[in-house]
Amino acid sequence: MTQPEYKLLLDVLAIETYSRDEDQLIEFLLAFFAKHGIRAWRDDIGNVYAEKGEVGTYQKYPLVVAHTDTVHRIHGNEIIPKKLLLPNYAGELKPALKGFDANDKPVGLGADDKVGIGICLMLFLRQPVLKGFFPVQEEIGARGAGKVDVSFLQNVGYAIEFDSPANTSSITLGGFLMYNPEDESGLGRIWTDLLLEFSEKRDTEFSLEQHSYTDIVKLRPHFSCINVPVGYYLYHTTSEYVVEEELFMALDLGEELIKRAGYRFYNDAPHPSASRLITQFALHTMEITGDL
Ligand SMILES: [Zn+2]
Repeated sequence: MTQPEYKLLLDVLAIETYSRDEDQLIEFLLAFFAKHGIRAWRDDIGNVYAEKGEVGTYQKYPLVVAHTDTVHRIHGNEIIPKKLLLPNYAGELKPALKGFDANDKPVGLGADDKVGIGICLMLFLRQPVLKGFFPVQEEIGARGAGKVDVSFLQNVGYAIEFDSPANTSSITLGGFLMYNPEDESGLGRIWTDLLLEFSEKRDTEFSLEQHSYTDIVKLRPHFSCINVPVGYYLYHTTSEYVVEEELFMALDLGEELIKRAGYRFYNDAPHPSASRLITQFALHTMEITGDL
């Protein structure tokens, strides 16, 4: 992540936004896209859509997704992200960002999901061809995503949401399988291979988890979807924080996933048991300790 990208992230984190009170962030997004000459618009409910570049006749757009609301009420006393040392998934202290107001009192940072918004914007600056969907009201039941303009999804090949806590990736949402690592030509195979590669190269770990919902649960009927781990912890509380190296990794994971998945369409095959897929993935990442 470059310095200007990091600055962009801090700018996004400083914006106050709360379910149904999301105008500041919506306006920020529309101004950002206008400034960079990227086509963008909002619908009646406030969902923001963006589109950059053109795909060929038989190609499909990758779609990046992050919701514009947080659970933290607007207080008008600023959100100042400060750097502290806080535990990662393994309990190791790492540089992390946490929110404070103008009086230095802890306030909800809203990393869920403003970190996701920041990463999507960085990807729009880096990628030549991309679509983006930024739904409102995720925290009160993915209502914005439920009202997505389906005509926008017609030339999309797959969705990548940046809204999975800590080092987890949602393999199911509300019981629906988002991707299937056992489908040889599926997006799940590309994604889990990528997670395993990153685990080795960057000496980290990931887990696949069954989560209740986020926006892509509404998009999955159209194509395969991935929820990328973005490194936020204690979400939905005023103690929420985000571990920096994990959010940097989320950007790299997203970029590499788009590179490998390309401008193709994916609809991973069903699988009878998500928990079996999870167990199989865990085998790949099991740590070997002690004497051999
Ligand atoms: Zn979220």
